Amino acid sequence: MIDINKIRADFPILKEKVNGKQLVYLDNAATSQKPQVVIDSIVNYYTTINSNIHRGVHTLSQKATDAYEQARIKLQQHFNAKKSYEIILTAGTTHSINIVATGFSSILKKDDEIIVSAMEHHSNIVPWQMLCERTGAILKVIPMNLEGELVLSEYDKLLSKKTKLVFVNHVSNALGTINPIEEIIDKAHKVGAAVLIDGAQSAPHIKPDLQKLDVEFYVVSAHKLCGPTGVGFLYGKEEWLNKLPPYQGGGEMIEKVTFEKTTYAGLPHKFEAGTPNISGVIAFGTAIDYMNEIGFDNIASYENELLEYATKKLLQIEGLKIYGTSKHKTAVISFNIGEIHPYDIGSIIDKLGIAVRTGHHCAQPIMDFYKIPGTVRASFSFYNTFEEIDLLYDALVKAKTMLC
Ligand SMILES: *Cc1c(COP(=O)(O)O)cnc(C)c1O
Repeated sequence: MIDINKIRADFPILKEKVNGKQLVYLDNAATSQKPQVVIDSIVNYYTTINSNIHRGVHTLSQKATDAYEQARIKLQQHFNAKKSYEIILTAGTTHSINIVATGFSSILKKDDEIIVSAMEHHSNIVPWQMLCERTGAILKVIPMNLEGELVLSEYDKLLSKKTKLVFVNHVSNALGTINPIEEIIDKAHKVGAAVLIDGAQSAPHIKPDLQKLDVEFYVVSAHKLCGPTGVGFLYGKEEWLNKLPPYQGGGEMIEKVTFEKTTYAGLPHKFEAGTPNISGVIAFGTAIDYMNEIGFDNIASYENELLEYATKKLLQIEGLKIYGTSKHKTAVISFNIGEIHPYDIGSIIDKLGIAVRTGHHCAQPIMDFYKIPGTVRASFSFYNTFEEIDLLYDALVKAKTMLC
């Protein structure tokens, strides 16, 4: 069970006023808010153990290294990776995808095929297009239907011996659809292709079991699950991380450097050049602990109740159309009201203290598919309330009256 008052008290920002109104934060798919323990974790790091990791023999450096490495182990345990060094700490989902996409330059050949889905975030499209330009590989797209679900019968037709890699998001940030990744992974493996899952939107709501999924790569950003911005990880199966070349050269990622030849360090250091966001990684570990204390089952069932309530309530508004109506969804509602531009709705309800996202949500191909310029997106987290959904409803009714 969720003790909503206790949880809300953990998030100092929820007491803030915006434009003179109580903040109603419904932009959780863009980034989540941070509980006090996560904020404290960053402050404590800089107040008591700040120093560079993996380098010094001195006590502080060892404390910082221990805290950093403990966070990696927390992530390993939470996501059930086999080895802690299969968790590469990065600047987030975008960075993680670029490590893999750049690395595949040395694996793919001309006319090899790679498969993406029609409902991806730009950060799971553009790095692969750049890869195709470098290698001459061909990008194929799994289409979607009007409910906002992938058409798996079409996926079957795209798969062949030429397929080397499939990359799909676990949950769509623009629609909330939970994709059937087990089936997608299984089918890719049958033709010998590797799979990368973009878990940026799933990790905040679902606890994925990486070994059970048997996926080659899984990528996550901390800031969408109560952690800081600019931190995340790339999970890769050991054999695949060994196959990929390093992404960046620099300190920390070498075994031996001479001007004639440099040999690289082993995992995970090969992919962790330079001084990382140490406090951010430690705070990411704190965020995972915090969410586990609440419990991912509790989070998912509460958010489902919010989704069901909000869907029914918003559909009472005449002319409101929801994009993404799959039965398998996280608590995201993407919608438009009649012909009103999403930006106009977003601006008016912002004056009432309500934060939602408007626009294409970094997923322009989805908007093109529905032939719309964008949507208003309300995305809910376990610290949102039913009362906040009522406030959203009232604000939308007001906006509609003003704009029609
Ligand atoms: C947010 C998001 C990204 C990008 O994450 P960054 O933290 O900005 O790198 C990629 N994919 C999906 C599905 C997302 O929601």
